Amino acid sequence: MKTQVDLDIAHIDKYVSDSRKSYEAQLKELVDIPTVSMDPECKKDIEKAAATAAKFLESIGAKAEIIKTKGNPVVVGHLEQGSQYPTVAIYNHLDVQPADAEEWKTKPFEMTIENGTYRGRGTTDDKGPALTVMYAAKYIKEQNIPVNIKFFWEFEEEIGSPHYEQFLKDHKSKLATNSVVISDTIWVSRERPAIQYGLRGLQGLMIKLKTGVKDVHSGLTGGLARNPIGELAQVISECYDARTGEVKIPGFYDDVRPLSDAELANFLKSGFSVDGFKKAHELHSLRTEDIKDAVQRIWARPTFEVHGIVGGYKGPGVKTIVPHDAEVKISMRLVPDQDPDKVLACVTKFIKEKCPDIEIIKEGTLRPFFSDPDNVFNKAAAESMKFAFGKDPAFNREGGSIGAVVSMHDELKVPIIFMGLSLPEHGYHAINENFDWQQASGGMKMFIKYFSLVSAMTK
Ligand SMILES: [Zn+2]
Repeated sequence: MKTQVDLDIAHIDKYVSDSRKSYEAQLKELVDIPTVSMDPECKKDIEKAAATAAKFLESIGAKAEIIKTKGNPVVVGHLEQGSQYPTVAIYNHLDVQPADAEEWKTKPFEMTIENGTYRGRGTTDDKGPALTVMYAAKYIKEQNIPVNIKFFWEFEEEIGSPHYEQFLKDHKSKLATNSVVISDTIWVSRERPAIQYGLRGLQGLMIKLKTGVKDVHSGLTGGLARNPIGELAQVISECYDARTGEVKIPGFYDDVRPLSDAELANFLKSGFSVDGFKKAHELHSLRTEDIKDAVQRIWARPTFEVHGIVGGYKGPGVKTIVPHDAEVKISMRLVPDQDPDKVLACVTKFIKEKCPDIEIIKEGTLRPFFSDPDNVFNKAAAESMKFAFGKDPAFNREGGSIGAVVSMHDELKVPIIFMGLSLPEHGYHAINENFDWQQASGGMKMFIKYFSLVSAMTK
């Protein structure tokens, strides 16, 4: 067996460029299957993609199994080199967001290849990174580098991983590993790799108010009838200052982990720029132009967000009614160490005090996540990124939430590391989603290096 000191860069480069054609063909095969987990019509496609994924894993010498859950299956692969060696598991998801074909330049479920750019739904989120890892693992196997690699390929990430935790509980021994790498995150810019060591969580809720059985005439009843849209809007404005984003609910910020000076310094070195952010998201103006404030707002502070207000008259012109019911859709992004249940309790108490007959309906929950950026795995990840991309990575946190992460941390009780390959311009969840050979080829080198570094660690 070889160890990481034997890595031959020229040999790896050749392996990677020799792999390009088959990588592209396999990526196309996967992207062309519309694995939209939100769409019940795609059940058959998901089964087909799971079988395809298992076939790919078997082609590199891994054992592959399609494990059923109450929802979509999980494909588990195992490349075994010997039980005496360390094991690393890689998590990716192969389900995708829906895509409205009319808005795309090309068909979302017919991957195109143009100058090393792969366009199609799921190319960057997360099929491209999944296959990139697989090609690195293939090299590890061919070179007999002593590390065991497991693959956890989920098909329900885009709907919040509703069955993943149960899957982990049911198959603990099969999934045993010394660490998990998640490859489903986004760099701040192409200029610099990035490692995330924290994620925001999420608590959704709906608030509803019903003050009668039908909309009524504003001339006959106005002034005396209550207006549920107005009352809900008032409650929202009491919950938070929409101009600054500051949440005014007592206790809301109690458990927010303070950002250390070192973390803030890393955020500022990450390649983030306010102008770049505006451009990437096509936003005309922001709550602040100050970079120090901006990075904290998206990575280290919780939010209160209104997603929609429903109620009243929605047609053209003005219809003079007083509405009889209304609904507001809300979510809060939560940061370490906020507890969603505790936050929800604060919010519920506050809203009930303001307006006792508002109905509060709890929606989905995802807990925030934090890991030590200085642990040995993050250090190995940083070394691997430098090896592959020539630059030290930025250490930042992710503003989004990945439900499976907290479940894996709790159930498998191992460190979780983030080694993503996606870029802002790849269009996560957006039209014309794409991935590219630069990131895939660099990613193969990065994971080869990472696996070899892990192989040199004691179990
Ligand atoms: Zn994803």
